Amino acid sequence: MTEYEPVIGLEVHAQLRTQSKMYCTCPADYQTADPNTRVCPVCMGLPGTLPVINREAIKSIIMTGLALHCEIAEQTKFDRKNYPYPDLRKGYQISQFDLPICHDGYLEVSVDGDRTRVGIERVHMEEDVAKLFHRVDPGTGEGYSLVDLNRSGVPLMELVGRPDIRSAEEARQFLVAYRSILQYLGVSTGNMDEGSFRCDANVSVRPKGTITLGTKVEVKNMNSFRSVYRAIEFEIARQSKAIKDGERIVQETRGWMEDKGITVSLRSKEEANDYRYFPEPDLPPLTVERAWVAQIQELLPELPEERRGRFESTLGLSPYDAGQLTGSPGLAAYYESVLERHADAHGASSTVAKAGANWTITELGRLSNEAHVEIEDSLVTPTNLAGLLALIDKGTIGTAQAKTAIASMFETGKTAEATVETLGLTQITDTGAIGEAVDEAIEANPQAVVDYKAGKETASKFLVGQVMKATRGKANPSVVADLVVERLAALE
Ligand SMILES: [Zn+2]
Repeated sequence: MTEYEPVIGLEVHAQLRTQSKMYCTCPADYQTADPNTRVCPVCMGLPGTLPVINREAIKSIIMTGLALHCEIAEQTKFDRKNYPYPDLRKGYQISQFDLPICHDGYLEVSVDGDRTRVGIERVHMEEDVAKLFHRVDPGTGEGYSLVDLNRSGVPLMELVGRPDIRSAEEARQFLVAYRSILQYLGVSTGNMDEGSFRCDANVSVRPKGTITLGTKVEVKNMNSFRSVYRAIEFEIARQSKAIKDGERIVQETRGWMEDKGITVSLRSKEEANDYRYFPEPDLPPLTVERAWVAQIQELLPELPEERRGRFESTLGLSPYDAGQLTGSPGLAAYYESVLERHADAHGASSTVAKAGANWTITELGRLSNEAHVEIEDSLVTPTNLAGLLALIDKGTIGTAQAKTAIASMFETGKTAEATVETLGLTQITDTGAIGEAVDEAIEANPQAVVDYKAGKETASKFLVGQVMKATRGKANPSVVADLVVERLAALE
């Protein structure tokens, strides 16, 4: 039985967060503006206008290229990509064809601890198109379309990855890692819902162990990491089955239907020569000065990969925790701020890094997820979480009480101290009070004592459970366990 392996290459478009558009001075804040209020003759594609290159956009793409270990071209140029479509006012898009600004880089992706290097063929600069709104007239039932030109000409950076990806999960992790880099650099929001970050996947399959590439299919219209994963999984299964059934795979563009969980044929795939690329006559070739590239290199912040390494080596975090916490710059800053606040207010602690990671990822992560907010935007400020960690550290509260406290803090924004006080969560550590509860539990459960004397270790755990129940979970569990063993030993 022949086994098939997928070969996947991604193309990712990211809008850049510049103040103005790519080739004119219109503001690029198209999402919050009223329709057609961010327009000028250049981005409306009127005849007789001339484009001007946005220097900030070029700086952003160079930063991205450097972060992806790319070569930065000394000589680059812009080209016209011609195609007719109502959202493209000029009838062409100013893109880059044979001399992209960045080329030949890579991005390391990790799946279940296995690291793979995915090649990057190029990263080039182009412009976004207008937005169409398709409507139906309620009176006549006739369809019509509206066009909003605010997005027309917004800087768009396209990454073309090499077909080095071998699973849907690897594709997803590539996107997660790439978006994280863009967010660290501050060059793009990487927001997939809003369409600021879009991915197309080229998928083909071939018999495992062979080198020749199969016919590839381009999949579009995926607007979340999850849909990219699902669409690729679907395509792998569809193509493998077709080949097994003796069918021929057609080179085409297919669209992902999120609600049905399938891809459907959209059109036969166009070739590069269908676009009739030619050098943009209105823009001179661009020389990228080496001194400028060196300057930009100096400006690069600590990237997710380095930060993850630092969290592992200096804070002793597991690769998983370090990976989770460094996924977005906002979350990494939040966590570091928790540790700082803790050190300032409560002094050094050898366990706070690990405990802080746990509480941030697990409890706060769950609460934030349910409420659809980012952890760093939640009402549990770094100072408040540091306060909670200090109370756990001192034994004032145990894990169960801390969970109750953080859920309340998440709603109210109050400090840990105030929350523990108001809810009466203070843990009982007083050995006198706990000792009484232990004595009562032993008296009430003579069979457990007999079992313990007969060598049944679990009998002491049962008694600890009884004490915890009697104190409604407020007794310090380790004090209880010590006292139970002590009292049992004293019985003859
Ligand atoms: Zn404009």
